[in-house]
Amino acid sequence: MKCPANNCALCPRLVAFREQNKQKFPHYHNGPVESFGTLNAEILIVGLAPGLNGANQTNRPFTNDYAGDILYPALKKFGLARGTYGRIKNDGFELINVRVTNSVRCVPPQNKVVADEIAACRPFLQDEIAAMPNLKVILCLGAVAHGAALQALGCKKSAYKFAHGAEHTLAKHNITLIDSYHTSRYNINTGVLTAEMFDKIVARLAAATA
Ligand code: URA
Repeated sequence: MKCPANNCALCPRLVAFREQNKQKFPHYHNGPVESFGTLNAEILIVGLAPGLNGANQTNRPFTNDYAGDILYPALKKFGLARGTYGRIKNDGFELINVRVTNSVRCVPPQNKVVADEIAACRPFLQDEIAAMPNLKVILCLGAVAHGAALQALGCKKSAYKFAHGAEHTLAKHNITLIDSYHTSRYNINTGVLTAEMFDKIVARLAAATA
């Protein structure tokens, strides 16, 4: 499977930010973040991009990011993870039938990615999807992930509107795409997404693969 090299140079803006972060936070991972979970999983969760002090530090998606404090306990609650989520890579926390990745693998300034970066990282998402023989459901956290997953699958974005809770059947691929608002601190603090709303989404993932 194609994975970005640690010194991936596809996105000049993200490379410049990485070099800056290497100076500031020399003990951080500061590189493209690896996906988490087995390629044999039936569920793929696609996020946005690593957080500066979260996944960019720990080299595990959503790990030590606020968004992971919502995501990982919910997966555990519905039998899709086991162990204790400890906000570090070697916490022994395990995903069950789930793999987690990001639309863009490197941390962007201000948590905002640009279209060129999503496009540059697309081949890695495409490869990720192609390398999952049992893939049934993709959960897209936010509109960026929704667009990235559709484009990685060669589907027209305009044919599938993003909406929290929406379910899209991608018959050609035998994949169901489910949308959720991102579990970001902003969405939780503003009440756009509540833990209860997110639980309902994760319950659907568990039911779809039971
Ligand atoms: N951390 C990630 O790895 N991805 C996100 O989308 C948010 C935080």
